Amino acid sequence: MNGCGRDAIEAFFEMIRSGVPPDDQTFTGVLSACSHSGLVDEGMMLIHGHVSLGERVVEHLIELKAQEAGDYVLLLNMYSSAGNWDKVTEVRQFMKERGIQTTPGSSTIEFAGVVHEFTVDDISHPRHPEVYAALDEIGQQLRIAGYVPEISSELHNLSVDEKGYHLSYHSEKLAIAFGVLMTPPGKTVRIANNVRICVDCHNFAKVLSSAYNREVVIRDRSRFHHFRGGVCSCEDYW
Ligand SMILES: [Zn+2]
Ligand SMILES: [Zn+2]
Repeated sequence: MNGCGRDAIEAFFEMIRSGVPPDDQTFTGVLSACSHSGLVDEGMMLIHGHVSLGERVVEHLIELKAQEAGDYVLLLNMYSSAGNWDKVTEVRQFMKERGIQTTPGSSTIEFAGVVHEFTVDDISHPRHPEVYAALDEIGQQLRIAGYVPEISSELHNLSVDEKGYHLSYHSEKLAIAFGVLMTPPGKTVRIANNVRICVDCHNFAKVLSSAYNREVVIRDRSRFHHFRGGVCSCEDYW
């Protein structure tokens, strides 16, 4: 969570060196650390050749992730970003069988002492026509500044039956547009998000932070993203 993936791997090897055999819990820990820090190759290397252990770890992760529906989205993201569509289908089937519904992504922003909440394609906010108009305007400005909307296979695949993964009007973008609309130029926009931010919203916030010269802070499920001058504090690993 603090971006110390490499430290976790080091600690893992220190364990091995001192003769402590790793079990499925150890692997769960080190692989979580790898996934948090984008260390996909390292993670693959660590369970490579341990097929049965790998499966136990995945079961363990599923158990761990089974706490709430939103966590399944995290798991789906993990498999889809690894391009493992079989596992994506498997998890979906698992969710369907158990009647687990995913929580729709929502983003909140505080303004003048009131918390404003947005969900995907939301039209419940009293000022939504202005918010959508502002978002379209911002989108145009950001495209000029180099933002390219990303319709990756990840998003594409998730959007098939998950309304929460539409691209154009994600809750984060609506909340950002509201922040830009309501606050004076240069003011930091702070948003809290209940699911992991997608690649496209992350790009959007990066370009906005430089094109609009505004700091954007987004807290998602696993960390804080501080966008400033076109880059994010997470260094694009989250
Ligand atoms: Zn998004
Ligand atoms: Zn980030």
